[in-house]
Amino acid sequence: MTKVYIDGELYEKEHAKVSVFDHGLLYGDGVFEGIRVYNGKIFKCEKHIDRLYESAHAIGIRIPMSKVEMGRAIEDTLKANSMTQAYIRLVVTRGVGDLGLDPKLCARPSVIIITDKIQLYPPEVYEKGLELIISSTPRNHQSALSPRIKSLNYLNNIMAKMEGQRAGVREVVMLNLEGYVCECSADNIFLVKDGVVKTPPPCAGILKGITRDIILDIADEMKVPAKEENITRFDLYVADEVFLCGTGAELIAAIKIDGRDIGEGKPGPIFKKLLKRFRELALA
Ligand code: PMP
Repeated sequence: MTKVYIDGELYEKEHAKVSVFDHGLLYGDGVFEGIRVYNGKIFKCEKHIDRLYESAHAIGIRIPMSKVEMGRAIEDTLKANSMTQAYIRLVVTRGVGDLGLDPKLCARPSVIIITDKIQLYPPEVYEKGLELIISSTPRNHQSALSPRIKSLNYLNNIMAKMEGQRAGVREVVMLNLEGYVCECSADNIFLVKDGVVKTPPPCAGILKGITRDIILDIADEMKVPAKEENITRFDLYVADEVFLCGTGAELIAAIKIDGRDIGEGKPGPIFKKLLKRFRELALA
């Protein structure tokens, strides 16, 4: 039976419930993380915990436990569920309060840890690659709500994803208000052109993905030139390779964007090289 951690207690899945007065539910007032477990090891746990605390700090939530206690709570929840391959969803909400936006109405933030499985795309999509469109929904402007805050407010991304679904594709590219490429609805994006790997810089208004950082490190280690650079729609169309990355999706090649084939219309050689090394690191 799946056990879910809520505020220091483990509950059976069907009893794992939050109040209808939780501001996470009422206003999307909260933050979260998604973390992978490979072969019993929590992958990049510290980095995810750091980002969770940064997201919380940015919206003025003081998580009522230390980072060390959070790490222990994650491990205990995983152990209680006897899982060695898993996807962990870590959620911190503003907590329970009366109606009204005022965060002061909430006495104490709530901490939730769910351990589950996740398979974002069918295996054949990982093999053959993914088709994308560029969504007409721009990414939230960073001065309104920074995409660097991994908040419970994912409507911007969901609206873009719905646009993709209407167009018959599984993922979309979102641009910023200047028209530069930001990221996908739940992943960061990379392109390869003439042997150089490129990804938008954090100041383009993206979530600074932990998988993205790993890819940049791997490229560095493998002496594949890589840089953060503003990318346009045109750059994507004429790229030799495009791929996406994220904790949930892992690494996946994009082979068509807005009906244009990317490169040879199949996962490219640099993508495959980076993927191989990523798998080695994840399974190490
Ligand atoms: N961008 C967005 C909007 C995301 O939600 C995510 C996480 N699913 C990512 C990028 C990738 O981040 P990470 O590699 O840290 O999972």
